[in-house]
Amino acid sequence: GFDLVDITAKRAELTPHVIAFEDALTGRTLTYAQLDDRCSRAAEVLAELGVVRGDRVAILCRNRIEFFEIMFACAKLDAILVPLNWRSPVGELAGIMADCAPVALVFGREDAEMAAALGAHRKPLALDGGYEAALPTVTPQANVRSWRGDAIWFLSYTSGTTGAPKGVMQTYQMSAVNAFHVTQAFDLRPRDTTLNYLPLFHTAGIQLVTLPTLIAGGTVIVLPAFDEERVMTLMPRLDIFFGVPAIYQQLALNPAFDGADFSRIRTWGCGGAPLPDVLVEKYAAKSVRVCNGYGMTETGPTAFIAAPEDALTKIGSVGKPQMLLDVRIVGTGGNDVADGESGEIWMRGPGLTPGYWDKPEETKKAFAPDGWLRSGDIGRRDADGCYYVAGRIKEMYISGAENVYPAEIENVLARHPSVLEAAVIGVPDEKWGEVGHAFVQLRPGTTAVAPAELIQFCRANLAGYKTPRHVTFVDDFPRTAAGKIRKHLLTPAPNAPSR
Ligand code: ATP
Ligand code: MG
Repeated sequence: GFDLVDITAKRAELTPHVIAFEDALTGRTLTYAQLDDRCSRAAEVLAELGVVRGDRVAILCRNRIEFFEIMFACAKLDAILVPLNWRSPVGELAGIMADCAPVALVFGREDAEMAAALGAHRKPLALDGGYEAALPTVTPQANVRSWRGDAIWFLSYTSGTTGAPKGVMQTYQMSAVNAFHVTQAFDLRPRDTTLNYLPLFHTAGIQLVTLPTLIAGGTVIVLPAFDEERVMTLMPRLDIFFGVPAIYQQLALNPAFDGADFSRIRTWGCGGAPLPDVLVEKYAAKSVRVCNGYGMTETGPTAFIAAPEDALTKIGSVGKPQMLLDVRIVGTGGNDVADGESGEIWMRGPGLTPGYWDKPEETKKAFAPDGWLRSGDIGRRDADGCYYVAGRIKEMYISGAENVYPAEIENVLARHPSVLEAAVIGVPDEKWGEVGHAFVQLRPGTTAVAPAELIQFCRANLAGYKTPRHVTFVDDFPRTAAGKIRKHLLTPAPNAPSR
């Protein structure tokens, strides 16, 4: 196994006086020595609640330093943290609670009501009440030396983009491998400052770039949630920036974007959803190279990241598989396809999940023999070894016997000056079997555009069978907390008039 040291204990030994965390709202800071002391006390608070090895501890709160204290406390007790999505409806959270059966529920003041609704039979722990009051009174738990690589540290429920969330088991080994990959791919250095604003109930919030920064001995500024103005204000202090495409899009629309000083940021990482070319170009105009990456909750998540030198010459590529990742592109017959040809992306390596919590059947389906994870995504490798992700097999449709991947069409639509964002799905068609139906959100303040104009725009830039036949204008999209469009919730109403 690839064991991990007790991170806070090790950092308290190596860099006791370096600032580990800064609260973006209050400016409060914690050094590594202070952090480790609080984590050791937090472990005792949890132990006194009755938490023992292997127990699940659910947590429902906005991004805050205490989330990580509870996370490291769980590690010190060998308990399993289950971050809950505070934006989820109570029914979905109740389903997750039933799935993982936590003994305790930790919550922040904003989510006290939801916690009460979920809390029956769980020991409650209020971060802004009992927890903070108990910390100074307890005897810190002795530090552990190392965390067993294959032990489960936390469960990340998947985005639920395509269905009910599944609890992806995240081990210490996965965090170690991920930190190694992020450090290499992003050129993360000791004393770097990074920003944690991505939601902590997705792997990205924890693993990109927060844990790697703590492992490297840098400083993490914690923001409760994404806040465009605050992020713009904090950017001049950051060394590394990571965002999902929806965040890059939003920042690019900010009035301060064109004049902003981004010169300190060494690496710009992106991932989690298709990144429109036009967005890469927009940042390139500010001398920013956005490195597109591909990964899944199941891969910890860092798997592929474009190198900065490829970011502009290979636009659309997610780069190469990272150091500890093996990849195959597999055809429908289970064979490896040639470079340039498309197939399912299969991955293998020590950074991958052992499976889904309490779902042996789903786990079995996700893995092929010899430990290969079937991603469910289609991709290809070019002659230089760079990879391209076409999209999910589930979202592909067949028009006139040709496979169509919505992301390619969305990428073209994003270039139209009136289009803010587009999502394409396949709908039944008598003649072609299926045709594309585009859902389009127009840019605020742009003039109305007719569906026929957008269809014409696609026809000029795409093969005929890829050109969508229907357009519906929407005010916004149904989204996951990570900003991904939940396509299965889009319902076609063909050729509705523009605004
Ligand atoms: P669920 O599994 O619950 O349906 P999800 O697959 O969206 O949700 P995540 O693990 O957060 O949950 O997302 C991983 C998926 O996101 C990948 O399988 C892939 O489809 C998509 N993805 C990630 N990065 C990229 C990228 N750079 N380009 C295109 N698609 C991407
Ligand atoms: Mg998935």
